[in-house]
Amino acid sequence: MYTMKELKLARIEAQNGQKTVVAVGSLRIGRDFVIMAGPCAVESEEQTLSIARKVKKSGAHILRGGAFKPRTSPYSFQGLGEKGLEILKKAKEETGLPVISEVMDSRQIEAVSACADILQVGSRNMQNYTLLKELGKVKKPIMLKRGMNASLEDWLNSAEYLLAGGNPNVILCERGIRTFETSMRNTLDLSIVPAAKRITHLPVIVDPSHGTGRADLIEPMCLAAIAAGADGLLIEVHNQPSCALSDQEQQISPDAFERLVPKLKKIKQLMNEIQP
Ligand code: PEP
Ligand code: MN
Repeated sequence: MYTMKELKLARIEAQNGQKTVVAVGSLRIGRDFVIMAGPCAVESEEQTLSIARKVKKSGAHILRGGAFKPRTSPYSFQGLGEKGLEILKKAKEETGLPVISEVMDSRQIEAVSACADILQVGSRNMQNYTLLKELGKVKKPIMLKRGMNASLEDWLNSAEYLLAGGNPNVILCERGIRTFETSMRNTLDLSIVPAAKRITHLPVIVDPSHGTGRADLIEPMCLAAIAAGADGLLIEVHNQPSCALSDQEQQISPDAFERLVPKLKKIKQLMNEIQP
């Protein structure tokens, strides 16, 4: 068994078996199953507000949207930055949905915190220890995405940085890892969900969008993630996926999201019955 004894705070024993519950508005992440949905990137006010209204109506609990985007190419759309945050703020005011958005750098913490209810640390920054130390000083919840080449031990040690820095509001997110498989963007590692939960008290969210990179695989992987014990899902939804400025292949339409949510609820209900 992998016990990871070096973890002082992230291990389940540190809280005598008590699971961490992260409060976001009236939501209790870790206790209530949460669905985070929204575009990969905030592209315009019209786009974000239209998606926000639709996902809210379909049953999303949290709106996602990147204002600062970590892109592989410096020539790709880099996000609207502060203007994107203003748009997210409007969407939040109108829909009442709490917001999650990525912070790529310590210099963005203040601006992103002023708008977002959860700060996302992206896969590429999971081992940016300077950033993690700064985020340890913040009280806002942090969602720490798994690095694309990070082991469970690496990931939990990164969570430990946040906890040791003084921020107890940490949520983990599995988003796929790099493997030899080329028919998908990443390999969504669902075995990490129960494996992480054996060791840590932190909630675990699953992101099948970046995890597979394929819109046609979102539904089956969402259902499987719930069966694997995920505390929630992060799903990219775009009003016109084929015209999206980033991650075109993996974003689902608001209509597909609307059809998906009742299925998620059914599987969750079934899981509650068989594994209360
Ligand atoms: C994202 O969620 O917007 C994102 C960039 O994801 P990841 O860091 O997992 O690639
Ligand atoms: Mn994306």
